Amino acid sequence: MDTKHYDVVIIGAGVGGVSTAISAARHGAKTLLIEAGACPGGMGTAGLVPFFVPFSYKPEPIVGELMREIHQRLIDLGGSNDASWATVDAELFKYLCDEMMEEAGVTVKYLTTLREVSRTGRRIESISVCDRSLKSSYSADNFIDATGDAALAYMTGIPVKCGDKDRQMQAGSVCFVAAGIKPELLEDTPELHESHSDISYLTNEMRKWCKEWEASGELKNSKEFEFHIAGASIDMKRGILRCNFGHFYGFDFTNGDHLSYILREGRKKVVEFVDCMKRNIPAMRDAIVLATPSLPDVRESRRIVGKYVLEDNAFWNGERHEDDIAIADYMIDLHALTLEESIRGGNAITEELLDTSINKFYGVPFSIMLTNEVDNLGVVGRCVSASRGMLGALRVMPIVIAMGQALGTAAALSNPVANVNIPELQKILLQEGAILDYAGTPRKC
Ligand SMILES: Cc1cc2nc3c(=O)[nH]c(=O)nc-3n(C[C@H](O)[C@H](O)[C@H](O)COP(=O)(O)OP(=O)(O)OC[C@H]3O[C@@H](n4cnc5c(N)ncnc54)[C@H](O)[C@@H]3O)c2cc1C
Repeated sequence: MDTKHYDVVIIGAGVGGVSTAISAARHGAKTLLIEAGACPGGMGTAGLVPFFVPFSYKPEPIVGELMREIHQRLIDLGGSNDASWATVDAELFKYLCDEMMEEAGVTVKYLTTLREVSRTGRRIESISVCDRSLKSSYSADNFIDATGDAALAYMTGIPVKCGDKDRQMQAGSVCFVAAGIKPELLEDTPELHESHSDISYLTNEMRKWCKEWEASGELKNSKEFEFHIAGASIDMKRGILRCNFGHFYGFDFTNGDHLSYILREGRKKVVEFVDCMKRNIPAMRDAIVLATPSLPDVRESRRIVGKYVLEDNAFWNGERHEDDIAIADYMIDLHALTLEESIRGGNAITEELLDTSINKFYGVPFSIMLTNEVDNLGVVGRCVSASRGMLGALRVMPIVIAMGQALGTAAALSNPVANVNIPELQKILLQEGAILDYAGTPRKC
């Protein structure tokens, strides 16, 4: 079997992998991105996650240039807006990721799954993957784990943690898109018409509907599934509903049988819920399910125990670090572990959390993306080295994209990536529009 060589090989094409690939290629690295699914974007496309979280709780955004570029280009395509929870049109987001990677010169292989890792001491030598026709093998100066599940790191023998001490993980979901809604028949409120993307109005309405239908027996929560609305918005012009829906409790999101079950069961629950809306809400009478996720909506699975572990205090105390590559203020956002916890209010955003997001910000250090065992491996996205709580903050798309911008740049600059010169990296990131400090200076998207 031939082994092809690249400067940087990335496994996983979620927003973490895509942003790393674009940045590595823009800095001259011959870059290969390998993805098990059929499209780029991960949770943001195949998972149908409908929004980017706010780009900050300050008066102005504190996200770096790559996120701003992605957002602006998605708006230009008609696939997002400038609301604080900016909507994400999954199809246009896939199109944009493909386009940006093509422009940068990234080689992309879809429908290709990581199979084996060959490691010698502190280096990954090569990996083998499986696509539809045969097994291929790739060597690289640097490898990046952007699988969300730390799959590459785990296979390389890097220590990982999974969920809480009892291996319980945050609830998973089943985001969906429905069409055929007649927004003019919804209650005529200024909130809906002025800002159809202000998610709070529709989210609150839909939560009330859920409560009513639970009381009438039309919907029934169980130990394993709750009819929960985490967020919903409606495109007033096109009558399209995007919904972050449902909670699956008690599953192991690294277990293939569990994932297959929640995909199947999730599709059933979406149809059941949309049918209920059609029967009860005049504006929804002609609603039709347009899309359910082709990738399970997983909030939490494995995370590495890396060179540095970012703990919850980073959020509460507004910690800064010498090797910060971004700043952020998104809060510790942990969905409930069980239905009982959810009923006790376990998903609510407390005033304390919101106040801290408004008044403080924390640094995102580069060393949470490195390991103690292997020098040419970087890890990005929903599996970096952090406490459960802190990962609940870092896992959101704008922060993941900021991490990808830094890791891709570092992987192109340095072989191995662990030896990157941090002040030099920070200088380049600043020149390219990253934000490493905040002093209240207005800076608009
Ligand atoms: C229900 C839900 C709601 C959310 N809401 C928001 C929100 O409103 N706003 C926000 O900003 N964020 C939100 N998030 C968080 C955010 O969407 C994700 O955490 C983030 O997109 C993760 O990006 P990632 O690139 O790290 O991982 P992923 O998006 O999970 O991408 C990982 C990719 O790796 C691929 N892969 C995995 N294993 C292999 C393998 N062995 N070989 C090849 N490929 C592999 C997968 O197919 C996938 O495409 C939400 C998440 C969920 C689940």
